[in-house]
Amino acid sequence: MTPTIDDLIATVSAYDNQADITNIRRAYAFAAEAHKDQKRASGLPYIIHPLATAMTLAQMKLPDTLIIAGLLHDVPEDTNRTLEDINTEFGTEVATLVGGITKLGKIKYRGVERYIENLRKMFLAMAEDVRVVIIKFADRLHNLETLDSLPQKKQFRIALESLEIFAPIANRLGMGEMKGRLEDAAFKYVLPKEYEWTTNLAQTAIQRSEGYQERAINILKEDLAAAGLKPVDVHGRTKHLFSLYKKLIKNERNIARIYDIIAMRVIVNNIGDCYAALGVIHGRWTPLKGRIKDYISQPKPNGYRSLHTTVFCEDGEIVEFQIRTPEMHQNAEYGIAAHWSYDERKLNNDLKNNDTQIDWVHQLADFQQDMSDKKNYLKALDDVKIDVFKDRIFVFTPEGDVIDLPEDSTPVDFAYAIHTDIGNTCTAAKVNDSNAPLDRPLKSGDMIEIITDKNRKGPNPDWIETAKTRHAKTKIRQFARSRIGDWIKGVFPNGLMKK
Ligand code: MN
Repeated sequence: MTPTIDDLIATVSAYDNQADITNIRRAYAFAAEAHKDQKRASGLPYIIHPLATAMTLAQMKLPDTLIIAGLLHDVPEDTNRTLEDINTEFGTEVATLVGGITKLGKIKYRGVERYIENLRKMFLAMAEDVRVVIIKFADRLHNLETLDSLPQKKQFRIALESLEIFAPIANRLGMGEMKGRLEDAAFKYVLPKEYEWTTNLAQTAIQRSEGYQERAINILKEDLAAAGLKPVDVHGRTKHLFSLYKKLIKNERNIARIYDIIAMRVIVNNIGDCYAALGVIHGRWTPLKGRIKDYISQPKPNGYRSLHTTVFCEDGEIVEFQIRTPEMHQNAEYGIAAHWSYDERKLNNDLKNNDTQIDWVHQLADFQQDMSDKKNYLKALDDVKIDVFKDRIFVFTPEGDVIDLPEDSTPVDFAYAIHTDIGNTCTAAKVNDSNAPLDRPLKSGDMIEIITDKNRKGPNPDWIETAKTRHAKTKIRQFARSRIGDWIKGVFPNGLMKK
């Protein structure tokens, strides 16, 4: 599981025979020495973390500078070696990257202020140098994949932040593979039961399709050959779990309505061949109406390009096909990171002229810099925020604990979510430090303080009307019932008259 420095070197050498291997080994030795007295929460030596980070970057075929920065990324923050040391040993470019990551810092999730602050930090870092954010993603991914060793509260916080901030940014940068991996790693901790449910559904679907995929691929390969097309690759791909989950939620949790749990990917040499391959597929299998999507002539806003079609495949099974060139494939997986990847560097030595996605980052950074009004800012960020939590909100206790509630929940729901006694004795609430009525609908990111009065006789029965959670409603009703019991006891100390 944990890669070694030799694994890292082997991976880098496989795509870039001009990479400075000596320097990568030197960076590894430098980091290992600097972190030598530190351990991960799991008890393992700290160096496995920078190594895993660098390995993720190598899987994206990134240049040696980024691999070296990945190895050194935690040195200035966590050890007594400084950024100047790195500058002296590895030069300005590496030092600037590591400095950028250090600036992003250890961010904590707490309420709406922190959320905005975190986003702002990410955007500013991106505007300065997108490579910093790419390294940060690799860093965060390994932290997510090793969350098991952390306390539960911390697991939730880091995972939620990854879903709300990191994954949407990765998506906006077109880094589909990174987005998928971040989301799947976080999903498990944010919604454990839903994660388990989705995993089981996906596994059943995958087992069912064993053998089937191969059969369909072989038929298609023959048809493509007969049409004179030489595909670079034809393979099946399984949908990432969290994106499957979001789709299930949109489709009343009905797995039968989801056609791309397993999709077939056809990689061909050029755009002409993409359309030709689409024709071949439709010649063999009947397409479903309205399911042909041409993201080549009309790319998605994040730059994604491919042809999609859904057909009645062998035995009438409904299967999605995705057709693209190797370049589109590289871009779909690595997005903005593909700009620096080895394949692209080979094709295009003058990267400065190929910066359309980076322009977007600059616009975003400009836009957020002159954003003074918090509410407008959040509204404008809607497309960055994910939609799966549309019907859930996440609010905070003054201690920073996260409580998740259905949309439009009130301070009363919040109070009962914390403890029945708090619910029963609550008299007032403060939302984000201002007084708020107990029936005010809460929003994600609100920090709520409940004011209780221990002399209070119990909850107001009217709260049942405005409370949103079944839990709060039940507790209010229970209390009302027990009060009737007390009243009866008061009036008839010897119990009700027997018939
Ligand atoms: Mn790190």
